[in-house]
Amino acid sequence: MIRLHCAVFISFTLSLLASVGSSSAWAQSTLPIADAHIHYSHDSVENTPPERVIELMRGANLKFALVSSSDDNGTQKLSELAPDLIVPGLRPYRRRGEVSTWFTDEAALEYVEKLLTTNHYASLGEFHLYGETADLPIPRRIVELAAKHNLVLHAHSDADAVERLLAQNPTVKVLWAHSGFDTPADIASMLDKHDRLWADLAFRSEVGRGGKLSDEWLSLFTQFPTRMMLGTDTYTPERMYFLPEHAETARVWLATLPAELAENIAWKNAFDLLMPHWQANKPQAQTSTIPATLIDEPTANQCGVSDDPSNYVVSSEPTLVIQPLSTIAVSEPFSVMMTICDTDLTGMKLELNATMPAHGHGMNYTPELTVVEHSDERMKVQVDGLVLHMPGNWNWVVNLRSPSTDTTLSFDFNIQ
Ligand SMILES: [Zn+2]
Repeated sequence: MIRLHCAVFISFTLSLLASVGSSSAWAQSTLPIADAHIHYSHDSVENTPPERVIELMRGANLKFALVSSSDDNGTQKLSELAPDLIVPGLRPYRRRGEVSTWFTDEAALEYVEKLLTTNHYASLGEFHLYGETADLPIPRRIVELAAKHNLVLHAHSDADAVERLLAQNPTVKVLWAHSGFDTPADIASMLDKHDRLWADLAFRSEVGRGGKLSDEWLSLFTQFPTRMMLGTDTYTPERMYFLPEHAETARVWLATLPAELAENIAWKNAFDLLMPHWQANKPQAQTSTIPATLIDEPTANQCGVSDDPSNYVVSSEPTLVIQPLSTIAVSEPFSVMMTICDTDLTGMKLELNATMPAHGHGMNYTPELTVVEHSDERMKVQVDGLVLHMPGNWNWVVNLRSPSTDTTLSFDFNIQ
């Protein structure tokens, strides 16, 4: 028997929980990767539409990416499309080719100061800076701005400049781009000396070449298990297309490490460094108003659920009540309890999906469903890890399947 309630029936072939790129070989890869070194600069924007960049990132199973671009426009485009995936960084370059002039260029500083008043970032950089130029007035001001705006410095620098930057402020953190192209022993000595220093492995293709780590790199990672992270460095437009390949190559040598260390380098170190900054700096989501009860007759009580106005009564036959267990806000994970009552729930299984019809996509994360109670007439399922990553109208579909029924409940949920 098929019963349809509340608006339209949504075919489950639309299930977008499986995410994009599932047909590619990359989808085999399960270890998430955080890429701490992405640029999407003006020529790259012209070459590759932002939608394609996001598709490449999701295809590579990136957990998130630290993106900084010349100019900032590319970063903003990606952020708008995938706020769950992009951690924005601000570099002081308006065009390609300013790497050796920006630190004496007042206009570059003005550009940074202006964007800091309007946009939100986790880092300042990547910028190029060597030796004593790090102590010039404009780099000094950049360090002050990083401290003031709670930003990590992303420095493509030699060890000397890194030390000068760290010395200018007692709290500022530095993510050392390309680990300064230094040897593992020299990187280790810097990490040992400076506890506010982290390092990315962007453009260090010698790391794990042939799928194996050399003893020197292994020793560095073992000695500093929480300080190193991955990066691709898409400094030219075509390198964007290597994102999946780069992630997959990294997974090969990461697989030779103990699982915890592999996860640290793959994404956790980047997460632990950048996310506290990004969570604090990003535009704060507003709490949504849960829409009014969809059906006239409050049947929640019959189902043993309180008729609290925040409960969302979706249907009366069967009765489905959704109780939010935490605040529902854009891009914030939340949990709900779903209670279903009917005359016979024997063998009942519940599936949940949410899509944005206007944008043609679904949730970026698969929520976790736990059956907390299941009798013949009442079933309670806790749903954790729900993330609605964009404001707007989300269509929720709850499918109830048992040997005797196949019921689809569809309803809209608006989050602002
Ligand atoms: Zn770079």
